[in-house]
Amino acid sequence: MAIEIALSEVADGVFELRLPIPFEDGLVNVFVFTDGDEADLLDCGMNSDESVDAIYKALEQLGARRLRRLAVTHIHPDHYGAAGTLAGEGRADLYMHRLEVPLVHPRYVELEHLVEQVRHYLLINGVPGDEAEIISNSQRALSQVVKPAEPAVQLDGAEFIDMGRHSLHVEWTPGHSPGHICLYEEGTGLLFAGDHILPELSPNIGLHPQSTPDPLHDYLQGLERMVDRKPKLVLPAHGRPFADVTARVDALVSHHHRRLDQIQEIVGRDKKTAWQVALELWGPRDNLYEKRLALQEGLAHLQALAVDGRLRKSVTPELVCWQQS
Ligand SMILES: [Zn+2]
Repeated sequence: MAIEIALSEVADGVFELRLPIPFEDGLVNVFVFTDGDEADLLDCGMNSDESVDAIYKALEQLGARRLRRLAVTHIHPDHYGAAGTLAGEGRADLYMHRLEVPLVHPRYVELEHLVEQVRHYLLINGVPGDEAEIISNSQRALSQVVKPAEPAVQLDGAEFIDMGRHSLHVEWTPGHSPGHICLYEEGTGLLFAGDHILPELSPNIGLHPQSTPDPLHDYLQGLERMVDRKPKLVLPAHGRPFADVTARVDALVSHHHRRLDQIQEIVGRDKKTAWQVALELWGPRDNLYEKRLALQEGLAHLQALAVDGRLRKSVTPELVCWQQS
């Protein structure tokens, strides 16, 4: 079967390749940077035959015989999944932020500990036992589309890395994932935004066992920093490139501010769990994945409200509760 690939040049020697995401109807955009007969890649899609073949095909079409570097914005399956196929001994060098590194093993290799950790996290946040069991086990499926690789370079943020013939600045933008990075080129104003700034969706910002402790504040601060860079063109990992970063960031920030107000109001005087808040806010959901995302997203907002002193968070070994302060 001939593989049709969606490849387009978005800047001099920079090509956007749109890859399918198995089990979902969306696409993930990865970027190929060419340099003679070598190439570098930003993000790599899931580890499925269809997706990996599309990458090889694109490299061939661009005259690249060797993949030199693979940089990943974060370790979610659609960005990092094929890392182990493309990078490692004798293959490309993998570059990733160091806060992503410790997340890989528990998430994709040794799942038992994380499954138990997530089950406990769901229970203390008010999720009924049977649902907590199912939701915590649902993450096992992800390890099938991810083949991990060891990083050759662990980034702190603020480095310059060469991608193709471009020198890009690493922008550490935690929130969606603890070690999420964007890549920015000052001369051209190109911002490779990963999942940090998407044109249509508000990226999921969740508090969970693998997140930073206050991911919403982290995320909002990262948005401000990216606006300050004044990028001319934002190249997101999902959706089409866009120019007006200020308008998009304004919309994302006001969305979160509205949601913070809404959640503060829902919490009220009586103690509530995050699960009760999520159910009131989003209503009952059938899809387990959506339920978990709703809980995590609700928790990120609750935590930000507690950090700002707008809510009171109380904890015991059995339960985490929230109420008006
Ligand atoms: Zn992601």
